[in-house]
Amino acid sequence: MSHEVDSSALHTDTFLVAAGRPERTAGASVNVGVELSSTFAADGPVNYARVGNPTWTAFETTLGGLEGGLAMVFGSGMGAIAAALSLLAPGRTIVAADQTYNGTEDLLAAHAASGGAVVRVPAVDTDGMLRAIDALTADDLLWLESPTNPLMDVIDLPVVLARARERGVTSVVDNTLSTPLLCRPLSLGADVVVHSVTKYLSGHSDVVLGASVVADTERGRALGERLRRHRTLHGAIPGPMEVYLALRGLRTLSLRFERAGANAAELAGRLRGHPGVTRVRYPGQGAMLAIDVDGDAEAAERVCAAARLWFHSTSLGGVESQLERRRRHPSEPAGVPPNLLRLSVGIENVDDLWADLDQALRTGLSTTS
Ligand SMILES: *Cc1c(COP(=O)(O)O)cnc(C)c1O
Repeated sequence: MSHEVDSSALHTDTFLVAAGRPERTAGASVNVGVELSSTFAADGPVNYARVGNPTWTAFETTLGGLEGGLAMVFGSGMGAIAAALSLLAPGRTIVAADQTYNGTEDLLAAHAASGGAVVRVPAVDTDGMLRAIDALTADDLLWLESPTNPLMDVIDLPVVLARARERGVTSVVDNTLSTPLLCRPLSLGADVVVHSVTKYLSGHSDVVLGASVVADTERGRALGERLRRHRTLHGAIPGPMEVYLALRGLRTLSLRFERAGANAAELAGRLRGHPGVTRVRYPGQGAMLAIDVDGDAEAAERVCAAARLWFHSTSLGGVESQLERRRRHPSEPAGVPPNLLRLSVGIENVDDLWADLDQALRTGLSTTS
């Protein structure tokens, strides 16, 4: 008799807890083990750990169910992104929104430098995006990230992805900021979803990890095989301990994201009335926002330095709230204002977050003007 639950019938928060568990035989572990073996006895499903690993499988089953497809874990978000970009043949065209993750920007620049074409369209220009897609063929690629980071612009994914699907153009969505709790791009027609699992999915700023997800269709599985081949042959693989930690983090994703999202909505409202803030960029959901402070780059840096509870650091999606002036990175596009601070809102008490942000803004901006 089977003791397995039918996970397809579960709500998302239950599925996150129940999926990817070992078979319930008498005395079985509740958690999958950290499988520390590079090789496996012959004639099993996997014979060598660069190709697969039972700890990976538990994570992949869980993330795949969440996104509604077949997931594959990578050693980092960039590992998954590089694999997805390898779907684009040299010399072909990629259409991308005007803002993508800065590591992705570097790879787009490399594609252009090697003779390929990169067409940029403002994230909010849906008509422009549709025209750019109409000019593509099936060998080209569409690359989207929504909301954009750090300007928090929202791309009309249902419309844009439907057009790409209609034209047979392969589309990739970096779903790191939204998470599958807010957006499931495969259900909108996307071919590949990529994640920096480092961020919300693992959620505790203690691992670097990535993933891709494809639809469980003939087309999706064929793309998945190409991604798998890239992962195996480029060695873009994670260690089992990282994957174990990511799965542990994934168990609480809905709780963490619910609290962080509620905190972000509350802070966005309060920040709109703050004298030190000239603009709040908040897409209306999720746990990221950005603010333009009333001052120059140095003033914005002083605000970061004055924060005590908020952690002045790069990255996002952890339980702890983080803030950063993005233009401190020379690679950040000039379209990002020098006085913009990106806020990754965590799960702390919102009044403590507000008190620290308010004092940091007042301390940092008081010496200007
Ligand atoms: C962090 C991030 C990446 C890169 O992921 P790593 O895990 O750092 O390699 C890609 N896309 C987005 C949106 C990110 O925030």
